[in-house]
Amino acid sequence: MILHIGIDDTDSLEGGCTTYIAALLVERLINLGVRFIDYPNLVRLNPNVPWKTRGNGAVCLRVEADQSMEDLIVGCVMDVVEENGWFEDVKTEPGIVFHIGDVPEALKLFAEEAVHGLVSLEYAKSLIERHCAMALGYKGMRGLIGALAAVGNQLEGDHTYELLAYRRPENRGRPRRLSLSSILEMDHVMGSETFNNLDPETLRPLIAPHGPDPVLFGVRGESPEAVHRAGMMIEAEEPIERWVIFRTNQGTDAHLGGVSRISDLRPHTPVVVSGVVSSPPRVIPGGHMIFTLEDGTGRVECAAYEPTGRFREVVRSLIPGDEVRASGGVREGDGITGLTINLEKLEILRLKDLILLLNPACPVCGGSMESMGRGKGFRCRRCDFKDRGLRKRAVRLERDLKPGVYLPPPRAMRHLTKPLQRYGREKRPNQPIKLHQPWHWP
Ligand SMILES: [Zn+2]
Repeated sequence: MILHIGIDDTDSLEGGCTTYIAALLVERLINLGVRFIDYPNLVRLNPNVPWKTRGNGAVCLRVEADQSMEDLIVGCVMDVVEENGWFEDVKTEPGIVFHIGDVPEALKLFAEEAVHGLVSLEYAKSLIERHCAMALGYKGMRGLIGALAAVGNQLEGDHTYELLAYRRPENRGRPRRLSLSSILEMDHVMGSETFNNLDPETLRPLIAPHGPDPVLFGVRGESPEAVHRAGMMIEAEEPIERWVIFRTNQGTDAHLGGVSRISDLRPHTPVVVSGVVSSPPRVIPGGHMIFTLEDGTGRVECAAYEPTGRFREVVRSLIPGDEVRASGGVREGDGITGLTINLEKLEILRLKDLILLLNPACPVCGGSMESMGRGKGFRCRRCDFKDRGLRKRAVRLERDLKPGVYLPPPRAMRHLTKPLQRYGREKRPNQPIKLHQPWHWP
C-alpha cells in the first residue's frame, strides 16, 4: 500500500513547525517498519493568503507499508500532531489528510490552485470525501486545505532540497549560536550547489530563523547530496536533536505560473503582468518605492518595499515608457496606493530612450544661449548673437539600467522565489526519486 500523509497548519508564531512534526514522524514511522518512497515534501503554497503571516508551508510524507499497518500509522500520525501541534493558538487549525494509492488528477489540480490562488475549505472537503481514505481537521479545520494540497503536489516539475536541523526542547526560544565562519566556509565551498545561505548586501546568515520555532538552521540547495554535505559543515554551539532532508518547491517560482491582465487582478493572488511604466517612480511613507504600470486593460501600482534594499534603486531608475514584466502578490489598495503588486521580481524588457533637450551652443563664440520665447529662437548670453532659426538639440542619455531580471535581496525574498543563480538549472519534470543515504538522523 502506498500512503500519502498531508499535514498543515500545526504551528503558530509562538512556536512549533509543521516540518518538525514531519521530522518526528520520519523517525517514528521508520521504527514501525514503514518505507519512505520520497523525501518528505515541503510544499509552499500561495504566499499571499491573508490568514498566513509566515511561509505557508505544508508537508506530505509518501510511504509504502503493509495494508495491515494502516491503523497503526494513522494512530502514530495523530499522536505526533496532537502532542506537538500548537493548539493553544486560536489561529492554528491543524489538518491531516491520508490518501492511499496514486494521486488523482483532481488533487493535482487542487494543489496547483492552492499555489496560485485562494481555495476554499468546502472545495477541499468535497475532494477529500470523494478521493481520500481519511482526514482529520482540528478546530476550524483550515489546515485541511494545505494538507490536501501537499498530497496533490508531488513536485513533479522543478524542485529543490532543504536540510532542516532541529533544536532540543531546552534550547528553543534562546538565541541560535551558529559559527559564522563555518557558514561562510560552507557557502564558499558549495558555490551554486546551495542558495540563499547569506545575504550578499549585509553578509548576514540566512540559514537560521529568529523565532521560537524548533528549527536550528536550514540549508537550501540543488540536490540531496549538496544539502547534506553543506549541513554537516555547519558548526553549532548546541546539540542538534534531529535533521531531515526535504524535497520542496522552494526557489522555483512555482507560484508565478499564470500571466495576468491588469483588469483581471484579484487581491491575495500571485501574478505576472507585462506592461508599460506610466508614472515616474515615487517614494511613499516608510521608504517604499512605487510606480504605476499599464497594459491596455487597466493600471496597477507596483511596490518595492523598504526592506528590499537595492532592489528599490532599480525601481527608482525606471522612467515612463519602459516596458517591464512585474511579478508578485496582489494586495488591496490602502488609501495611499490603489490595487498594488508587491514586487517579488521585475524583468526589464525594453528601456525607453532618455532624451534630454538642451539649448544650442552659440555658433559665433560657443557660449551658452537662452531661449527668447517659444518659437522665437535663441540669444547668446556672452556675445548677444541672436538666431531665430536655432532649435534645441536632443541628447540621448545613458540609462543606468540594463534589460534583465531583478530580484529583491535574499533576505527579503519569498521562499518560492527563484534566485538568479537557479536560472537555467531547473530540473526536468518527472525525474525518478532516489533516496540519498543518509537523508535523516536519527
Ligand atoms: Zn556667442
